[in-house]
Amino acid sequence: MNKSYLERVQEIVTINKPHLKASDEIWNILDTTKAIIFDGHFELLSKRHSDKFFRFAAITQYPYFVSKISQEMVAWIRNNNTEKIDVTLSPASQGMFFAYDLARELNGTMKTRAVYAAIDKDTGYPKEGFVEGFEIRRGERVLVVNDMTTTGHGLQTLINLVEKSYAKVVGVCLFGDRGVGEDNIKEIKRAYSFHSIVDLNMPSWPAEDCRIRCLSNKRLIKAVELHHLPIYSEENAYELYVEKLEEAKV
Ligand SMILES: [Zn+2]
Repeated sequence: MNKSYLERVQEIVTINKPHLKASDEIWNILDTTKAIIFDGHFELLSKRHSDKFFRFAAITQYPYFVSKISQEMVAWIRNNNTEKIDVTLSPASQGMFFAYDLARELNGTMKTRAVYAAIDKDTGYPKEGFVEGFEIRRGERVLVVNDMTTTGHGLQTLINLVEKSYAKVVGVCLFGDRGVGEDNIKEIKRAYSFHSIVDLNMPSWPAEDCRIRCLSNKRLIKAVELHHLPIYSEENAYELYVEKLEEAKV
């Protein structure tokens, strides 16, 4: 018997320390949005390849779901006794909806601002600079936020940006961590209070291994190219993206 989409999701996703009985909510969000794309061929921002992709935009198109995720993260923040948070900092990509909503959720007690790091258009990674007009002031307490990480590279850039601003990182939080076991991420976890709502067992590998690991001749879709395509909340999203890209070529 074929597995359902949700069963496949549950095989690769671990929910970390659920609060607010949020497990069902998280499964519902992933099942409804089909944010995890299976059976494809993707180049991640890190340039690594994988057969799976996590598209946070499938979730952020629903502010209601983002608010559920923020509530879950705030439960962790409170549990962790994190004192005042002046700023949530994310890249000006999908993670910004999470940073914005988290600041909104914290505003009742903390008057938290949301601030965004500019994105390098070519790599899709955050730059060590702010979106015009935004800043972090000396001594501010900053929560680093992103949708997910594979290598920790983007998180490190955000941390550097906080430190360059003479401010303090009080925590690092993600929706998903697909880089469990990566050295850079272990390093960040050692240095800072860290929480991901889910861990994603979605292996990726260097592009050089493509011929061995990617097996099929499936068309490679780059993360930076996927961002320009419509969001399909369908189980066969990869095929639909390929169709779109082929159409665009004609
Ligand atoms: Zn490949």
